[in-house]
Amino acid sequence: RAKGEGRNRFKVFNTRMLEDAIRLMDLESALRLALDRGEFFLDYQPILSLSDRSLQGFEALVRWRRPGKGVASPKDFIPVAEDTGLIVPLGLWVLEEACRTMVRWQTDFPQVLAMSMSVNLSAKQLTQPTLVEDVERILRATGLDPHALKLEITETVIMDNPEVSILRLKRLKALGVRLSVDDFGTGYSSLSYLQRFPIDTLKVDRTFVSEIEANENRKIVGAVVALAHSLGLDVVAEGVELEAQSAVLTDFACEAGQGFLFSRPIAREDVERMLDSGGCALGQAEP
Ligand code: C2E
Ligand code: MG
Ligand code: MG
Ligand code: MG
Repeated sequence: RAKGEGRNRFKVFNTRMLEDAIRLMDLESALRLALDRGEFFLDYQPILSLSDRSLQGFEALVRWRRPGKGVASPKDFIPVAEDTGLIVPLGLWVLEEACRTMVRWQTDFPQVLAMSMSVNLSAKQLTQPTLVEDVERILRATGLDPHALKLEITETVIMDNPEVSILRLKRLKALGVRLSVDDFGTGYSSLSYLQRFPIDTLKVDRTFVSEIEANENRKIVGAVVALAHSLGLDVVAEGVELEAQSAVLTDFACEAGQGFLFSRPIAREDVERMLDSGGCALGQAEP
């Protein structure tokens, strides 16, 4: 009897695995087609200077408009794209689209010349031997000043293979682009490594910001900001949703913030409307 049960369990488990595999394959081919058919697009989330709430730049965030199925969140398809390797061509598309948009904004709105465009790089992209050449080629093709581009790499990805990361990040830096550590605080960073990375900015993860009113988290964020400053880095707080959070961050002299308090990620046309009206439709209602 026990044996029979075991076999049943095994069978159920197996069927589920097969179903998962098929779903993954479907999603993979759907992603491939989506790239060919131009179903991906970018939203842009403003990043603000906390002291005066002026625009410091934008983060490009990819979305997938699925015909008949609405818009898919990167949380749902980036992991599959990563597992199947499709993140490499998708990531290059994102980079090129973001650079092209930035050049256009710089041309149409002179105030954008002082701003930056941040683009996320995934783990798989960072391990590509051609990454540096690809970035260089896209900068040249779009004509974007490298200094206007910020590449975001998560702490976990960097710490997975610090030695390789350091070399690759140094080569990226040599192009003139700037580098941010994304989701800082969620992984494990050796502080000595942090100092060796050629990075410009720490982005403090939303989980710390969202609980900043709790005393312990407040101390952690304060310490992270102080550490970053002592290493010559500036700090962007992610996920700022409340005025009270912004106030604490400002007290810590945290340079910049990004979050629903200021603006959700918005469409290119909405950014253009905002820039057209001279700056800041920020802190606006949800779309
Ligand atoms: P991330 O790079 O940390 O991006 C910030 C995420 O936090 C975005 O989610 C943004 O909408 C969300 N967010 C910003 N402010 C707030 C807030 O105040 N409250 C809350 N609750 N959330 C806030 P999104 O667009 O869903 O992206 C999720 C993640 O997907 C990104 O996290 C990034 O890791 C990944 N991702 C997005 N676009 C790309 C891409 O082009 N390439 C790669 N490799 N990853 C991407
Ligand atoms: Mg990011
Ligand atoms: Mg982030
Ligand atoms: Mg995050």
